Amino acid sequence: MPASCGRHARGRPGPLPAGSGFEREVRAREASAAPAARFPTPVACARPDMFPLDTDLGLARDSYYAATARRDRSWPALEGSASCDVAVVGGGLAGLSAALDLRRRGLDVVLLEGREVGFGASGRNGGQAIHGLACDQEVIERQLGHGAARQVWDMTIEALDLLRERIAEHGIACDWRDGYLGLAVGAGKGARLAAWADRTERLYGYPLERIAPAEVGRWIASPRFHSGVHDPRSGHLHPLKYALGLAQAAAAAGVRIHERTPVDALHQGEGVTLHAGTATVHARQALLAGNVYLHAGRAPLVPALAPRVMPVGTYLVCTRPLDAATHAALVPGGRAVCDTNFVLDYFRPTPDRRMLYGGRVSYSTATPRAMAAGLRARMVRTFPQLAAAEVEFAWGGFVDITMNRAPDFGRLPAPPGRTPAVYYLQGFSGHGLALTGLAGRLAAEAMTGDAGRFDVFARLRHRDFPGGAALRMPALVLGMAWYRLRDMLG
Ligand SMILES: Cc1cc2nc3c(=O)[nH]c(=O)nc-3n(C[C@H](O)[C@H](O)[C@H](O)COP(=O)(O)OP(=O)(O)OC[C@H]3O[C@@H](n4cnc5c(N)ncnc54)[C@H](O)[C@@H]3O)c2cc1C
Repeated sequence: MPASCGRHARGRPGPLPAGSGFEREVRAREASAAPAARFPTPVACARPDMFPLDTDLGLARDSYYAATARRDRSWPALEGSASCDVAVVGGGLAGLSAALDLRRRGLDVVLLEGREVGFGASGRNGGQAIHGLACDQEVIERQLGHGAARQVWDMTIEALDLLRERIAEHGIACDWRDGYLGLAVGAGKGARLAAWADRTERLYGYPLERIAPAEVGRWIASPRFHSGVHDPRSGHLHPLKYALGLAQAAAAAGVRIHERTPVDALHQGEGVTLHAGTATVHARQALLAGNVYLHAGRAPLVPALAPRVMPVGTYLVCTRPLDAATHAALVPGGRAVCDTNFVLDYFRPTPDRRMLYGGRVSYSTATPRAMAAGLRARMVRTFPQLAAAEVEFAWGGFVDITMNRAPDFGRLPAPPGRTPAVYYLQGFSGHGLALTGLAGRLAAEAMTGDAGRFDVFARLRHRDFPGGAALRMPALVLGMAWYRLRDMLG
């Protein structure tokens, strides 16, 4: 779920949590669905307790992306011990991007993924690559001043260019499409969006095409929106195809990838030692890029990092193919769209004539009741002409939010007398499709001695979520209720 601002073609996790609304829904749809809706055998994971976000396996099961991406390569689990210059934990876009860049800088890199590359948020997201961060620039300005805030903004735009470059350079067929619309519901939000666009152009030199109320109909066939902005430099793609393509590129460059290798312990001393069950990796440095999965389980891998991010569930549905005329008229030009609500809807037409529609959040990690039916209703509220459209896929995943929604990049403290050897990337707060790519590059720069740009982000201060392990989640749920109320008040 971009802040406004699929595992699995041939292997999917086991049964859904018993009795869940979501399960009933899926079973009902299974019963009515055409034979196309298939659920092959689950993928083994050496340590299932490693990822206790137990709703997550169910959420990954029925993804449009998993059904439409060819996962025609897998990598062996690590056995025995290995040594390398850099060990990367996490086979999502952050880890894969860093591994590729580190390898290109001549380092020997081992990447350890607990399940399969693209298993996490990187293979399930809304596919929208958008300028900026999940937080407002004012958050960065207040902490770092305007000069550094400008650097950060420019790096988020570089992230968009880097995405296009990698797609072209590695010939990744991932359905990239230019264009993004930020649309406001109601005059109040329209005015706030216009003020934001003015400020962004004035302070960051970033032009956005304005969509006046009278013009909205030209951009989208929906009665819901008052006005908006168009950014031709942002865009959208098929994230699992992109993640699998990036994994292939990293492997081709010489990165040693190991799937089904969940890291369960990390020791710093003479370099870094990582344990994954009975397997071991010795490395000079390590990068942790595990999203909220890194902190799930009875024993978070790095307890000090865990309270800085919280898992938030977000969900998507995708229709069966629509007739060509209806599909083409929904969002002429086929751009990605987000509304400007705090709990936003994000959606886009797909190249195979479907509507992919995201929204709804869960701060408790429990999957919302009737998740797919609720999202379908939001889609029909936006597009009444889709009242008869059938949902074929429904899935979701978890994003790693920070308290201030700014990304959290840094180094772990080193043992006495040693230099920091463990770097981490987290806290993309639902806005990481493009930024993970650049974050991987910044980590590679910093881990090879050029930390200037990485440290601009590393200087950002982050607070732990309040409440301690027991109360953190209920405190978050309570806190977020206010924002939902604000959305409703307009
Ligand atoms: C439903 C949804 C919609 C979204 N929509 C958008 C969008 O439209 N635009 C946007 O910009 N962002 C979006 N996001 C956010 C975006 O997907 C993420 O910010 C980004 O993919 C994070 O990448 P990552 O590499 O940090 O994490 P992930 O892709 O989650 O990868 C982390 C990997 O680390 C592995 N791992 C964790 N711990 C261990 C361990 N101990 N040992 C081994 N492996 C481990 C996990 O198995 C996982 O594969 C969305 C997210 C979700 C869930």
